[in-house]
Amino acid sequence: MTLSIESLTVLYGDKVAVDNVSLDIAVGDVLALVGPSGCGKSTLLRAIAGLVEPAEGRVEWQGRDITHVPTHQRGVGLMFQDHALFTHRDVADNIGFGLKMAGVGAGARAVRTEELLVLVGLEGFGPRSVEGLSGGEAQRVALARALAPEPALLLLDEPLASLDRARRIELNIELARLLRELEQTAVYVTHDQDEAFSLADDVGVMHQGQVLRVGSPGDVWRDPQFEIVARFVGHEAMIERDGQRFAVRPDAVSIATSGELVGRVKTCAFQGDRYALTIDVDGGPWRLFHSVAVEPGSMVRLSLDPTRLARITDI
Ligand code: ADP
Ligand code: MG
Repeated sequence: MTLSIESLTVLYGDKVAVDNVSLDIAVGDVLALVGPSGCGKSTLLRAIAGLVEPAEGRVEWQGRDITHVPTHQRGVGLMFQDHALFTHRDVADNIGFGLKMAGVGAGARAVRTEELLVLVGLEGFGPRSVEGLSGGEAQRVALARALAPEPALLLLDEPLASLDRARRIELNIELARLLRELEQTAVYVTHDQDEAFSLADDVGVMHQGQVLRVGSPGDVWRDPQFEIVARFVGHEAMIERDGQRFAVRPDAVSIATSGELVGRVKTCAFQGDRYALTIDVDGGPWRLFHSVAVEPGSMVRLSLDPTRLARITDI
């Protein structure tokens, strides 16, 4: 029923790269591991893949201890930022490579490769040379290659990081749709909060080797629990009230003539059906959403909904 990670610790010499992490991922779900560079995301993913040996803890798949099972026997598909395609083979051969290694015959391989090309939006690309592909196309091929053997678990490490912004957003949306459609169990590593939130069922926010907070994107956004997590999801402003610390969520702040606080509008950005504002209050920038544009520089009164402040605890 799940991928279960129990008290996993990974060391590089004296360096603790993954620090006593426990996580469960339900079959068919996508977990995004997020956090700044160096926090241990890739190392945790590599431990799940069997590419690094943990110092302590266990990895279980469907109740079976796979902590020491070699990567090629784990049924995992891997996709990295650097797609590492075979440049001397065509697209179809790249996609079918794992199947060939697994002894799948040429006929069945061709059928499956065609199916995958359609799935990743590269119909007709089979005979093309890999060297002529754009970055986005190459990542689609890498994705098809990872999916070819129908892995029980797909592991993706910053798969879109090398692409330009437009391509990244486009592929992110497609990847989200595809993973859902395939009901693919997956762990998706990224430093990009938006990317994680748009495709994950659960998000795990990492900091210095630990997973500080796991939950649905909505739960983590509403109740980040720790200041680092709050900042990571975009709640930059913190306030003290009655001796407690709170992150100021954008939905806790509204512009109201009767508001008890005063601030100066810094920026006002159109977002389709609303405006995203940043407002200087007591030095710190507060974010909020508003239905009409407000001129930067203007003073506004603000009110806070205390039920929408996110209580912050120390790590
Ligand atoms: P992330 O993927 O979140 O950027 P990593 O898992 O790559 O983080 O790295 C976690 C920590 O372990 C970092 O401090 C990094 O410098 C260190 N590290 C990563 N790989 C190695 C390695 N092969 N040898 C020694 N230290 C490493
Ligand atoms: Mg990494």
